[in-house]
Amino acid sequence: MINLNEMPVSSIKGVGAKTAEALTKAGINTCLDLLRVYPRTYEDRTPRYLIDDAPLDCKVALVMRVTTAPRVAYTPTGKRIVRFSARQRENSPAVHIAFFNQTYLANAFHVGSDYRFYGRLTKGNGGYFMFSPAYEPIDAVAADTISVYPTMGALSSGKIAKLIKMLLSSILPSDIEDTLPESVRREHLLMPLGNAIFEIHCPTDKVLLEKAKERLVFDELFEFSLNAERLRRREDTDIVPSMNKVDTTPFIKALPFPLTSAQKRALAEIENDLTSTLQPHRAMRRLLQGDVGSGKTAVAAGAIYIAVKNGGKAYIMAPTEILACQHYETLSSLFGGLDIEVLLLTGSTTAKERRKIRERLISPDPLVLVGTHALFEEETVPCNLTLVVTDEQHRFGVNQREKLLSRATVRNNLVMSATPIPRTLAMFLYAGLDVSILDELPPGRQEISTLLIPPSKRERMYGFIEDEIRAGHQAYIICPLVEESEEEALEREVSGKGALTSATEMAESLKKRFEKYSVGLLHGKMKANDKNEVMDAFAKGEVQILVSTTVVEVGVNVPNATVMAIENADRFGLAQLHQLRGRIGRGKDKSWCIFITSSKSHEALGRLEFMTKCSDGFKIAEYDLEQRGPGDFFGERQHGELQLPLASTTRDISLFQKASASAKRFLDEEK
Ligand code: ADP
Ligand code: MG
Repeated sequence: MINLNEMPVSSIKGVGAKTAEALTKAGINTCLDLLRVYPRTYEDRTPRYLIDDAPLDCKVALVMRVTTAPRVAYTPTGKRIVRFSARQRENSPAVHIAFFNQTYLANAFHVGSDYRFYGRLTKGNGGYFMFSPAYEPIDAVAADTISVYPTMGALSSGKIAKLIKMLLSSILPSDIEDTLPESVRREHLLMPLGNAIFEIHCPTDKVLLEKAKERLVFDELFEFSLNAERLRRREDTDIVPSMNKVDTTPFIKALPFPLTSAQKRALAEIENDLTSTLQPHRAMRRLLQGDVGSGKTAVAAGAIYIAVKNGGKAYIMAPTEILACQHYETLSSLFGGLDIEVLLLTGSTTAKERRKIRERLISPDPLVLVGTHALFEEETVPCNLTLVVTDEQHRFGVNQREKLLSRATVRNNLVMSATPIPRTLAMFLYAGLDVSILDELPPGRQEISTLLIPPSKRERMYGFIEDEIRAGHQAYIICPLVEESEEEALEREVSGKGALTSATEMAESLKKRFEKYSVGLLHGKMKANDKNEVMDAFAKGEVQILVSTTVVEVGVNVPNATVMAIENADRFGLAQLHQLRGRIGRGKDKSWCIFITSSKSHEALGRLEFMTKCSDGFKIAEYDLEQRGPGDFFGERQHGELQLPLASTTRDISLFQKASASAKRFLDEEK
């Protein structure tokens, strides 16, 4: 038996100083650490399609013969590409293959040689295309199933794969010591650790791979449960003074609407957390979960009211400046009449304003401070901070979140999220939190009609948008990118496919199309002040059409907007589309959401079709998880920011219960 935990990764053959350094940076020190980097996904490189039956716009493997000699071509902008054609059979249609910025590849392919290509197959005006595919000479193809690893800093997926392969070729499954207590392993009939690790890296069989995953997921859940349980048994951790009961009537009266019964229920739960007379009194650790538009802000305001009336300070923190400003507006107008001071702190707060905020922070007076994560970068230690509300918490990176939690441990915490997270994932993200759910939308909400259209119907859609604007309403036009990337522009140019619409270009063309109206542009690369100005103008109705990237996705509230058009809708994750769509249908008027896509992919169209029929965030989350796996759940933006544990990929709640029970028993026996 080899103890892999004692073996430094530098002992693997082929690990030089540079690789060793990159590994250390990625937190991989021992061979066991390396083997615990699991494939993110598996690519099926089995060539199973004839070219004309192959699904478009998704990755496929095709074995093809090179039929024209590679040549280097230049695009009008002077970028170099290597192009050649290949065919599956002599009389089957040619596939144009192109690589960008890798001119040396011109010598890598020879007419008459066969390769397995693996890449996204698209069809443009000029026929079939594959851009920068993976390729192997046919006599050198490895397995049909390729493990794809996450990229970690300077370590590419391929490099990690190589290292793991090298390591596994020098050991046997039985060399890997099992970390679970044998009794636990037997009780749940789990695969031995060594076998599971071999199988997950080099799958041999579907059923075995599932067993391997189950085993490794169990490990994570077991360890997680152990830690949680140890924490729970350490009694005195988060004790805070209990607050006095507060008459909330003035607050309720100040609200512009009666609370829904779901909001009342959630507020009562929070009130109980804060004011219960049970001793010792634990700090509130509550997650308020509710679909977009369910009215979480009002509930948070209630919690803040209680804290402030008890003489404390309350923070409410939002992931973006736009959202922070909006909360600031809402809360100032609500609390203004109740004689409660509300201040705003963001990255663009002036030095002078900051000084004032600092003064207020060290004074013992009650205060509501709204802000972005700038709140937690502020060094001033606030006097009497008793409540921290975090909105749309999953949007914060893991690091920010940890910072936040570590500084906020002895305070009451309310976390709000509109993303209906699959349960296993929630257990990791929100471990140890109590949960309140807003399962009811405020009355009078209009249902949103969602349509799916091809780009050819865009002009008709504009006509429709114009009608809405004439009726006094406003519209969002969402584009996936600020500018398309160089590679995307090249792809488009070479294949003759429809343009991927960038927000900047779109705004320009809409200014011409909607001459009589005001068109605003909003994207993440703009200065905070400019962003706020545009958002303000849109909120006030001065701007009728807002062209935006996904920065409007979180929380923004303009009830008068009744249309949202989403360009290249297939580029977004479903959770993201759901969030976006939640920006409309917020007022009393009927709203429309229009997805525009030129995609021909069955899969992509199927997913969008689903969205046109379903408006239930939880159902969408489930569907998305089924379709794409959790890696994509938060959309591409989140990649790397959120290292998902393997356990989040399991939908098996019972496994979590088993692990948790075993952990408790294990600790009992340890005593
Ligand atoms: P979210 O849960 O997405 O954060 P918000 O708190 O922004 O939702 O509320 C969405 C909209 O619904 C806001 O315009 C808010 O004023 C309104 N709203 C909230 N609660 C109620 C209610 N009980 N009755 C009517 N409108 C409400
Ligand atoms: Mg909100």
